[in-house]
Amino acid sequence: MSDSVPGSAEAGVVTDVVVVGFGCAGGAAALEARRAGASVVVLERASGAGGSSAQSGGELYLGGGTDVQRSLGFDDDADNMFAFLRAALGPHADEEKLRLYCDGSVEHFEWFCSLGIDFERSLYDAPSWMPPTTDGLMWLGENAWPYDELARPVPRGHRPATGGFGGWLLMDRLVAACASAGVVAETDTRALSLVVEAGRVVGVRARRFGEDVTYRARRGVVVTTGGFADNAAMLAAHAPDLLGHGVVSDGGDDGSGILMAQAVGAAVRRMAVVEVAYTALPALACRGMLVNARGERFINEDVYPGLYSHAALHEPGPCWVVVDAQALEEVGDAELWGTVPSYVAETIEELEADLAMPAGSLARTVAAYNAGAADGGDPLFRKNPRWTRVLTGPFAAIDPRIGFHNPTHRAAPGATGFAGFTLGGLHTTVDGSVLDLAGAAIPGLYAAGRASSGIHGHGYISGTSLGDGTFFGRRAGRAAAELEQGEVSHEFVEQGEASREFVE
Ligand SMILES: Cc1cc2nc3c(=O)[nH]c(=O)nc-3n(C[C@H](O)[C@H](O)[C@H](O)COP(=O)(O)OP(=O)(O)OC[C@H]3O[C@@H](n4cnc5c(N)ncnc54)[C@H](O)[C@@H]3O)c2cc1C
Repeated sequence: MSDSVPGSAEAGVVTDVVVVGFGCAGGAAALEARRAGASVVVLERASGAGGSSAQSGGELYLGGGTDVQRSLGFDDDADNMFAFLRAALGPHADEEKLRLYCDGSVEHFEWFCSLGIDFERSLYDAPSWMPPTTDGLMWLGENAWPYDELARPVPRGHRPATGGFGGWLLMDRLVAACASAGVVAETDTRALSLVVEAGRVVGVRARRFGEDVTYRARRGVVVTTGGFADNAAMLAAHAPDLLGHGVVSDGGDDGSGILMAQAVGAAVRRMAVVEVAYTALPALACRGMLVNARGERFINEDVYPGLYSHAALHEPGPCWVVVDAQALEEVGDAELWGTVPSYVAETIEELEADLAMPAGSLARTVAAYNAGAADGGDPLFRKNPRWTRVLTGPFAAIDPRIGFHNPTHRAAPGATGFAGFTLGGLHTTVDGSVLDLAGAAIPGLYAAGRASSGIHGHGYISGTSLGDGTFFGRRAGRAAAELEQGEVSHEFVEQGEASREFVE
């Protein structure tokens, strides 16, 4: 590229809206900006779109009465969804964003359908990280205590109709919609810094095949570069909970977009908030118990597994999943994810000794659990009676540090069993405007997805990252595309490369 931006020696491109990063948030922003009449260029440093979004499970947290819910006889509404998420994403969920997210959820579901994404009208009716079926709906802890008392329990985990991880399908359809709308994708293009003139963000400096290129944005720049779980220095500074644990990402969550925006005065918010997944299988945990190194339970095991993961992260020592033979038999191979017990013992006392727990500790826990189960309940944590049963020997203990599908059945040196990603990021308004340290919007700068802080307080529920990334990505794209007062819209050709205007 040899064309230059006026007044500059650099090669350059001029467009209305520049989106940085082509994951779910970037795709949603680009599509809506384009549909609002702007010319749009997306910069993506990888050789193709996708990011973590394409590698994800594809679970979308949607509700309020979607067609999938209604077809299966579930009566939901926006207030009910809000009541659940305010508690489950809390304490301190962002209620302003959450209110919009819940009110707009049915329309957002229909937006996904309009991209050509199908959801089967069937329910997977058991706790799971990822059902081994193509069912279009799953529970994400809505029917577990205390959430079943805070809101009418209805399932809201929407799954694209594909077996296993469905993020690829979401991104495939989103990328196709962007291409047919005339969004231009500049792959192999790494954004380096933001261009600011007279207090307004007017473009992005990038590097493309060894060349410096400036992308000028007449209307706005939207930062959708993902989180910072792969940046150890940023974790050490802001989110030490994840230090030393695995990362749930495509390997590129280095926080570059957050840093770029901070360099021009952007504020960040809730940087310590993280999602954490523990490799403790929900199907087994709910049929048995999750205990800490002192042999104590600390949560009802039928909650959304991310919530017991979060709790386990702060428990002393390694945690164990303790089950009996019946639990292992009940969970079929497809749901076992290659899990093999590390210890098997005829009596709970033997198992307790194998696990180096204080004498009598696990035995007391199992005795109390069994006493409750014999009475049909779980007085301590109120696990749903469906999953509460008297446990009888032989017993087994599963070590989450080994991970799923690990043929060696041994924990790798230093493995903790935890992996996660970050939920904090740039401080934005509900329309994606990035705020500065004084709380004022930085003109021309927008953000969405994990580069920003979304609906989350302290908690996380599966599907809310792809969910709020696309929901607020769409809003940011529309806001960035808005014409400044008095600005004259330019004309450009609808399709493909022609919408990328090189300045002579
Ligand atoms: C295995 C796995 C399973 C998951 N399952 C789920 C799930 O089921 N439901 C759910 O809601 N969430 C899930 N998540 C989390 C979710 O996928 C992410 O939080 C979400 O996709 C983030 O979206 P994003 O658009 O903000 O970032 P991304 O999708 O990561 O996109 C960011 C893009 O920006 C690009 N980029 C970064 N820096 C630059 C730069 N300087 N210049 C140019 N480009 C840049 C990156 O290459 C990337 O393509 C999962 C994640 C993983 C890894």
